[in-house]
Amino acid sequence: MRCLALNASFEPLTMVPMRRALRLVIDGKAEIIEADSHEVIRSASLSLPRPAIIRLVKFVHVPRRFRRQVTNTFLFARDDYRCQFCHRTQAELRQRECLTRDHLVPISRGGGNEWTNVVTACSSCNTRKGNRLPEECGMLPLHPPTEPHFVHLAWSVRRLTAIQQKYIRVFYGRGTLEALGGR
Ligand SMILES: [Zn+2]
Repeated sequence: MRCLALNASFEPLTMVPMRRALRLVIDGKAEIIEADSHEVIRSASLSLPRPAIIRLVKFVHVPRRFRRQVTNTFLFARDDYRCQFCHRTQAELRQRECLTRDHLVPISRGGGNEWTNVVTACSSCNTRKGNRLPEECGMLPLHPPTEPHFVHLAWSVRRLTAIQQKYIRVFYGRGTLEALGGR
């Protein structure tokens, strides 16, 4: 079981292995916010309730680019596995088509790989758009791309306990948790 680590601001940061969570608490770098009341961890010198959620004592500035790298897994999830140009979902694609990453402002024209410049596109739309800007070809994405603030948690959400889910819900809202597959 893993422990959900919150920043000092209570923003959920990441899941950490239990051993590391305990080390942070014992070193005074984190406090236990919620613990498993039935589980106690004992060592030679102390006993602690097993933490479910810890909060860092000092605010840690996490550079955005480390926290929220664009991967296709998260990009497709953000866009609901739907081509942002023809609106077809992955299931509706024909054989030999696949979902791809499209850069609204093409890299060759100075576009970057940040969340606000990439959208999910089927391979056909991606090819059709080619090297053009959305305005030049009239291909505007279904949703203007934004940076999702929760994707770094997505990989672990199905393993969150109820109490850990509560903190994500409080911080990001119920919709986010539902989008991640939690309750
Ligand atoms: Zn398409």
